[in-house]
Amino acid sequence: MSRVFNFSAGPAALPEEVLIQVRDEMLDWQGSGMSVMEMSHRGKEFMSIAAQAEADLRELLAIPDNYKVLFLQGGASAQFAMIPLNILGQRKTADYVVTGSWGKKAIKEAGKYCEARQAARPESFTDIPDPDTWQRDSQAGYLHYTPNETIEGVEFHFVPDTGEVPLVADFSSTFMSRPIEVSRFGLIYAGAQKNVGPAGLTLVIVRDDLLDRARADTPMAFNLAEQAAADSMLNTPPCFSWYVAGLVFQWLKRKGGLAAMAECNEHKAGLLYNAIDASAFYANPVNPECRSWMNVPFTLADAELDAVFLKEAATAGLSTLKGHRSVGGMRASI
Ligand code: PMP
Repeated sequence: MSRVFNFSAGPAALPEEVLIQVRDEMLDWQGSGMSVMEMSHRGKEFMSIAAQAEADLRELLAIPDNYKVLFLQGGASAQFAMIPLNILGQRKTADYVVTGSWGKKAIKEAGKYCEARQAARPESFTDIPDPDTWQRDSQAGYLHYTPNETIEGVEFHFVPDTGEVPLVADFSSTFMSRPIEVSRFGLIYAGAQKNVGPAGLTLVIVRDDLLDRARADTPMAFNLAEQAAADSMLNTPPCFSWYVAGLVFQWLKRKGGLAAMAECNEHKAGLLYNAIDASAFYANPVNPECRSWMNVPFTLADAELDAVFLKEAATAGLSTLKGHRSVGGMRASI
């Protein structure tokens, strides 16, 4: 067996310790005589796996009691629609701060369900506009932003202040990479496949008081309040992904939690950006103030060399360094 250095943005590398545990428990989870894939989601075994994962996630993020944690399906893309359906209530508008490709997708989808206003957008996706310049609507149902833009490698290293307007954030590609002050947010969501486990699971952390305003025609499985009331088991949840995410949460705890992760991630990104900046061959276009700790795009001095670079990188065991097809160049998701 040989494992590569995997720079995939997601589905992405998982801790080897977790993969080994999954392998060891594959046929017989803790004496149950079954794989987690084969268990009833309502049986006592899976209920204990589910509860432990939630408890560990709550501990790692210090999630206050007035927030629900949901383990859903549909990916972050489903949340693009579920958020206006569930959170807008009587309000007519929602504000979007668009700092990259995923923010663009989020506002487009929300536009089907409400007046989705672009409160801010930089000229190019290499910067974050100063929050003092954002054109916000004080009557907006919420303000949505993307703390880390996976494709462009632009990350907020601060939490915007939106006063009374609930703050909604797509944490997909930076979830669990550092502590989050959950009480600053109305709703946090993330697809699991980048930082916490296999695809198929979507984490939603939502403040209680926002769960009373879903549109009447919201599909049942997409209704956050109904899912919360059913402990995310309104229908069959993504059991196996939930279980693996739970093992990652335990691994994060063993590694010292999210403060330790933040230190490690900042250091790791610093090594790479320093190498890029010190070289005349590599370049990263993002304003250093908002460079991502998670996804590092870079270009070569001569784009003609991209194919050679990727081939030789692969030979050296460095896999999946090709940049997203929409921007080209390279990207290391770290
Ligand atoms: N938002 C961000 C920031 C992402 O990186 C991605 C995944 N590439 C998505 C949304 C879409 O996620 P999903 O595939 O889970 O719908």
